[in-house]
Amino acid sequence: MKRKKLVMGLILIAAVVAGVLALTGCQPDNPDAESYSNYRIGLELSDDLETVKVSETVVYRHKAEVAIDQLVFRLYANAYAEGAAYPAYLNALGKYGGFELQTLTCDGSPVTPVYGEDRTVLRVPLSRKLATGDTVTIAVEGEVTVPHCNLRLGLTDGVLNFGNAIPVLSVFRDGQWREDRYTQIGDPFVAETAEFEVTVTAPASLKLATGGNKATVSTDGNKNVFVIPKHIARDFTLAASYDFAVNERDVDGVTVRYFYRPDKQTEADAMLNTAVSALEWMQSTAGDYPYDNYAVCETPFYYGGMEYGGLVLINDASVGKDDIVIHETVHQWFGVGVGSDAVNESWVDEALTTFLSHYYYKGNGNVDRFESGIANERRQFDGFMKARLLTHPGYRAEIDRNLYAFETIYEYSLVVYSRGALMFDAAYRLMGERKFEQALRAYYQAYSNRIADAEGLFAAFDGAMRGISETMRPWLKGAVVQESFLPRASV
Ligand SMILES: [Zn+2]
Repeated sequence: MKRKKLVMGLILIAAVVAGVLALTGCQPDNPDAESYSNYRIGLELSDDLETVKVSETVVYRHKAEVAIDQLVFRLYANAYAEGAAYPAYLNALGKYGGFELQTLTCDGSPVTPVYGEDRTVLRVPLSRKLATGDTVTIAVEGEVTVPHCNLRLGLTDGVLNFGNAIPVLSVFRDGQWREDRYTQIGDPFVAETAEFEVTVTAPASLKLATGGNKATVSTDGNKNVFVIPKHIARDFTLAASYDFAVNERDVDGVTVRYFYRPDKQTEADAMLNTAVSALEWMQSTAGDYPYDNYAVCETPFYYGGMEYGGLVLINDASVGKDDIVIHETVHQWFGVGVGSDAVNESWVDEALTTFLSHYYYKGNGNVDRFESGIANERRQFDGFMKARLLTHPGYRAEIDRNLYAFETIYEYSLVVYSRGALMFDAAYRLMGERKFEQALRAYYQAYSNRIADAEGLFAAFDGAMRGISETMRPWLKGAVVQESFLPRASV
């Protein structure tokens, strides 16, 4: 996720001047394609975008060595329900949302699920134990009620954000299913990669931005049917509006589309250029992009931006939108391609992505903008620490904390994004460009379609420069202060 703009007097001015500041988490699984679970999903959007029918068949393949007798799905749409124990919304909503389960079968037989505390957890008991390599087929029918809000799931001004909205399997770790509670801080989602095949039925005049591979579109009466062919992803996301315009360009076999509302955006060509440039740069710097579609979509959105496989949402009211586009594009490699435990170790992707969104400028010949971006992160973090130490004497800016250990989005943003980016900057200054980019490529190659952790990331960096992780680890615990920034190597 890209940070939300922090509206704070002088800091805001400084951020605008510097041109940067926006707001906004094991072990590896088997990347062998034959071992993926499979989702076949049918979605049907109502004309008024208030509801989405969901028909989902999941063939789950159990990979862990511990036998299981239940599956756990996440119904994040229920975080938008009135009275949710851990709501996605910050203020009361004009209309609440949720996922209404209509039928649930396990290998064709009806099954009664058990909900967790806030109904984002759906436990599905199995009629038989699953051992390693066994499969089970779960079929889910239901309907998403779209809340009225500008969050990941929501309808605002005729624009539908449909992120983290469909039922997805939780992750099985350390002998149990994860049931992390929802939080408004960070991106509280962790998912394995799986095969996704999706069909979306929508009103013919509706414009759709979809994730995953490029959709084929056919017309059936007054409906369009979008078929998104089989691809590897962690979820499926779309955005829709009758008002969207789209600018697009093919680059290296990828169709890059920029969706926007013409009355909200006068620089759509420039934004498309930025998306194309960031995609090309990441392909050459870190490795191949996995889809033939990349949809960048401006929507009414509380956060700066949010990344999904093949689709990113961009806050249409943001300043510095180009920086958000770059940040979310980098996430296609780190955060989406290379998954992370975004609940317990969000820095693994957010800190790296924040650094790379500045480093992008250096890679594209604008060293000044790279340096000013890093300087701005440092200035912001220093300002945060000065204020923090007044109210919290002895405060340690520990990057390596779970989402629940941060008091505010502001603290989370400054510690994980800003300070996290400074940690990668310090490593980069020691490694130099060649070794740093070697580490990025090795990391992406080793963990693409898997879930990386800190040790996986450090192994890739140590592979490029022995011992570099020892200079990074103290940052995670809050032990490095500004005065002890590592010396700069010539790069
Ligand atoms: Zn992010």
